[in-house]
Amino acid sequence: MGKNIRHFVRDSWLTASYYTGLSQLYHALVGRKRGIISYHNVLPVDKLSAFDTYNVDVTAAIFDKQLQFLKKHFRVQPIQEIENPNAKGIFITVDDGMRNNYEVLAPLLEKHGISALFAICPAMVDRQLPYIWRDHLFLLLCQAANQSVRLPFNDYQTLLPVPETPAGINNLTRQLKQYVYKQQLADIYGLVREICQKNGWDYEVLSPDELRYDFMTWPQIRALVAQGHRVASHTQTHRVLRFLSQEEKKVELEVSKQRLETELKQEVPLFVYPYGSRAEIDQVTVDAVQEAGYRMALMNVQQPNLSPLTFSQPRFAFPPISDSSHLHAIVSGYKFLFR
Ligand SMILES: [Zn+2]
Repeated sequence: MGKNIRHFVRDSWLTASYYTGLSQLYHALVGRKRGIISYHNVLPVDKLSAFDTYNVDVTAAIFDKQLQFLKKHFRVQPIQEIENPNAKGIFITVDDGMRNNYEVLAPLLEKHGISALFAICPAMVDRQLPYIWRDHLFLLLCQAANQSVRLPFNDYQTLLPVPETPAGINNLTRQLKQYVYKQQLADIYGLVREICQKNGWDYEVLSPDELRYDFMTWPQIRALVAQGHRVASHTQTHRVLRFLSQEEKKVELEVSKQRLETELKQEVPLFVYPYGSRAEIDQVTVDAVQEAGYRMALMNVQQPNLSPLTFSQPRFAFPPISDSSHLHAIVSGYKFLFR
């Protein structure tokens, strides 16, 4: 309740600041001069599901409005300029390489004449793994809705009920994620296989929604590059880099780079970290990225304790809204004054 009131006061103030020009003034004087926005999925639906496994989905209509907003109020830079520190303005990045990126998101970028950076996990494109682990767990549990399941929380000893609704199943997936983080588990895909074995499930799950859960193909990714977009490595398998040994980190960073360079027939100097909190990225991780031969690396949030800045470039995400005052406050950095 208290939180709702605080949000209401903040949002009212943001709206007032926008329409009186205060947030524009802030932006001109002290706001960020360079901003990198991160997106994941743009879906051709009227309404998003009430939950979303990573809070990363946006409808095509809202994405369209957000691009319009960005072009109107800020300078959206071509992605080729991202390594130029003097290029001020906004850059667009898109993580994970899902099928909707090619079929829904890219046509909207083209409509607005905007180019973007796509962060790709080659093992997913090569179908070495069917889904990113968290999606995979969610889809397996969806198949077991209303049934009982054995999970690693208590060493698979007791049967636990699987909720009926997708929102409930999403919560259970979150608990599994917490387990993975508590154990600092390197072999997350091994855990997915183990859960399947303990419950007698098939490892393979049919995709309920190709645009949301499946990956782009190499020809689609090459077509994006031909349209003027760029590609970054997002590791081979989207595991948590901090949980991996030095040798495993090296494989994730170097093999993915080589695989992309082979398929795209060009150098891939950019890296986008999967995840972004301090629990997931430490200085050793940043050093490993630098040693793997990249020239720049992008994170999800600002982490001033990590260096150098070229390898810890902060990004920010938009919530799935089209309200100009709120978006302006986020881009200008004005919103962060009200934390
Ligand atoms: Zn990702």
